[in-house]
Amino acid sequence: MLKKFYPYEYAEDVFSIDYQKLYDSGIKAVIFDIDGTLVPHGDDSTEEIDSLFEKISRTGLKTLLLSNNSEERIQRFNANIKTLFIAEADKPEVKGYLRALEMLGVEKNEAVVIGDQLFTDVMGANNAGIPSVLVKFRLHPGDTKLGKKRRVEQVILKCYFMKKSRTKRLGDVCLK
Ligand SMILES: [Mg+2]
Repeated sequence: MLKKFYPYEYAEDVFSIDYQKLYDSGIKAVIFDIDGTLVPHGDDSTEEIDSLFEKISRTGLKTLLLSNNSEERIQRFNANIKTLFIAEADKPEVKGYLRALEMLGVEKNEAVVIGDQLFTDVMGANNAGIPSVLVKFRLHPGDTKLGKKRRVEQVILKCYFMKKSRTKRLGDVCLK
């Protein structure tokens, strides 16, 4: 029953994923959530994130930003990265994911979704049949309060980690 919320893998953050390994295993594109995944909610991109995208693109992987946030917010974030994006994606609805695959020109098993939320990023990816990596959500410094949804996520994650057959389904792409 909880299966639909289970990611293929879990990573501490977007920097601890072995993108080269993903590419070598046949993955052609990475679909990123922005808020809470790449930066804390609403933040602009950073030099660190901009260079991460350069690094990813050097492996041969294509990228796309799939966000429920507004077009204006994503264009600001994407100013230096200049990658494909879909704004107001309505995750976990499947249609945004399918459009992403179409824009990237890849099949569902050739893409990976990377996001910070089980109920949007991961559930949508599972419903669309795309593998996913959950990363620990990024908060603004000093922001420690967790909402109810986050607390429920923590419980589901505990069950996920106990189910060894569900973890590391991409062949362990964590660097740390
Ligand atoms: Mg997010």
